[in-house]
Amino acid sequence: MSEPRTAAEALLAEGGSVYGRVAAAKAWLDGNLRVAPRAAKDLVERLLPEAEEAGDSQGVAWLRFHLGWLFIDADDYERGSAIIESAKSAFEDAGDGEGLSRCLNALGFATFMIGVHDLALDFFREAVDEAKEASRPDLAGAAYVNMAECLYELEAPDEALHLLEECRREYPVAPHNIASFQGLSGKVYRTLGRLEEAERELLKALDSAGGALHDSLEFRQVLADVYIDAGRLEEAETLIGRGIAECARVGERLLGTRFRLSRARMETLRNRTERAISELEAALRTAREIGAHKVETDAEKALYLVWEARGEYRKALDAFVRHSELKDAMRSEQTLRRIEALHDERSRREARHFESLYRQISAVSEIGRRITASLDLDVSLETLYSAVNGLMDAPTLMIALVDAESRSLDYRLFVVRGERKEGFVCPLDEENFGCWCVRHGRDVVIGDIEAEYRRYVSSYEDLVVDGTAEKSLVFIPLLAGGRVVGMFSVQSHIPHAYDRRKVEVLHAIGSYIAIAIENAGLFRRIRELAVTDALTGLSNRRRITEATEEAFRKAQRYELPTGFILLDLDHFKQINDTYGHDSGDAVLQILAKALSGQIRDCDLLGRFGGEEFVVLLPETGVEGARLLAERLRRTIEALEIVLPDGGTLRVTASFGVSAVLPGDGEGRAALKRADRALYRAKNSGRNGVAVEPVA
Ligand code: GH3
Ligand code: MG
Ligand code: MG
Repeated sequence: MSEPRTAAEALLAEGGSVYGRVAAAKAWLDGNLRVAPRAAKDLVERLLPEAEEAGDSQGVAWLRFHLGWLFIDADDYERGSAIIESAKSAFEDAGDGEGLSRCLNALGFATFMIGVHDLALDFFREAVDEAKEASRPDLAGAAYVNMAECLYELEAPDEALHLLEECRREYPVAPHNIASFQGLSGKVYRTLGRLEEAERELLKALDSAGGALHDSLEFRQVLADVYIDAGRLEEAETLIGRGIAECARVGERLLGTRFRLSRARMETLRNRTERAISELEAALRTAREIGAHKVETDAEKALYLVWEARGEYRKALDAFVRHSELKDAMRSEQTLRRIEALHDERSRREARHFESLYRQISAVSEIGRRITASLDLDVSLETLYSAVNGLMDAPTLMIALVDAESRSLDYRLFVVRGERKEGFVCPLDEENFGCWCVRHGRDVVIGDIEAEYRRYVSSYEDLVVDGTAEKSLVFIPLLAGGRVVGMFSVQSHIPHAYDRRKVEVLHAIGSYIAIAIENAGLFRRIRELAVTDALTGLSNRRRITEATEEAFRKAQRYELPTGFILLDLDHFKQINDTYGHDSGDAVLQILAKALSGQIRDCDLLGRFGGEEFVVLLPETGVEGARLLAERLRRTIEALEIVLPDGGTLRVTASFGVSAVLPGDGEGRAALKRADRALYRAKNSGRNGVAVEPVA
């Protein structure tokens, strides 16, 4: 470090004009800012007043630019951005394309670091344009790499790769950027599943990074993930073991948790879920301590997948809820940061605009927490209508979800000129704008329907409602996890109602909707699993217990009878002993099916545990329940059960029947009576029905 410092001091000691010294300082700072930040700061702070005094406005702008970078490198993004903004204005006034491009790139970087990736992308785009204008391919290249990084973070790896390739072909990469360029290429290839190329790039990056410890640890962590993806678990294990030790040694806690997530994934693949869980729990503890929300979210997601795989649905559900709450919190934070980041004059209007957008669509993000059934999803979708219309003219608005199984498009929200209409379902291969958008996974943006519809469909009949069609329309595919899960459309009778910016806003809203849809689906699935018995697919004890209390409350409120049947197979242990446990399981499955065929839709049949089943009978008194129990008893008795190995056997069951009584304090009381009745049925020789209380 002593060399650059001496060079800076020499620069200060030099005589001559301020202009000359500032120009020399600029050249020195370009190469040494990162290497010797202290010396750089001294230099800038000493020269800045001199340059101001001498009225060297270009020199002042360059010194400010470097000062801004020094703050950014020290993680003070706010101050860094403010200083660079002032330099940028000076470059704008002077028409200095190089200065402008470099300022935009720095602002993009600061915005990227605070996590507002889409806005950062805008900055980098402008930086590229300015660099090209100023014929500076090196600067364009730098901004291109940053853009690729943004696109990677925004989960658009295809576009990121496209940029990287273009960059490799057309623009020189500065030597100090080579390692990160290769590392990023590796990450992008991995996301695209191109593992060989990912490995190659990451190995190159490791080579280029040399002594840069943080970078090399990061590349090794991604490389470990590549090995896991490729099933090369031994190699992954070695990398991870060393990585964790190294992170602990140098206090790299964040990367340490990333390595732990990789290890958890590896252990899961080896079916050592116990170990995976303890890794994830350790990662979670650290992530919470250091406030690393992204890792925490990823760890919760991994955790719910592992619990789900282990059949521990209750725990899976808890982890899922924590995961989606974290994700929601991160999204809110990002939106707020975006608002804060939009601070220059042009953007202040936009900031207000986004603030109101945020407030309105946070109602939609609420869905992550509240979604319990498709009904809730519908309600949240409706709140969108007023939200969107607060931002633009969108009297006609539609949201449709893809039903992959039936290959159709289900219009959940269908508002035409302010009036909510009945939803409908149309086959995906039908010729209309919505289906086109979903099939191609691309936007449809039309400003004048008569002139433009032919690009997508041969007629726009489907848009004609009450004799007219809208003039402008936008259809946007809703993407979740790389899949098109639906589409979102706004339409207006005003021609050219939707410019590029409005379409961008619609994209932002669309991504909220897509996440809400995805969350709703996942939540429903896991919740369903949490209350389902894995062997028979019937309701499990938990759901029955909940349903019992719910039925009890209803019975009390509306004075309706509610009956219960509890049944237990007779001498089932013998069946296991004679035919084996697997056959026993098959018997339980066959019986579950046979019983299901005998009850009404409104009745609830569940497996209460072991070889015990329960039937909950709304609006049925004790006599009705007894008659059904008798019928079920005969059904079981008559059933010839065919085992998987072809053998046959017969079973019987004993039944206890009860109903809610006026004096009961809770639903459980009736279940207890059914259990006592069952005990009597067993004692009276089995294969019979007993009722409690005895009439
Ligand atoms: P009874 O009820 O008539 O008094 O006799 P039992 O042999 O059915 O007695 P008990 O209810 O005490 O035993 C239930 C047996 O059911 C014990 C266990 O072997 C078997 N069992 C419980 N759950 C399962 C299961 O999930 N699969 C299989 N195959 N067997 C089970
Ligand atoms: Mg039994
Ligand atoms: Mg039993």
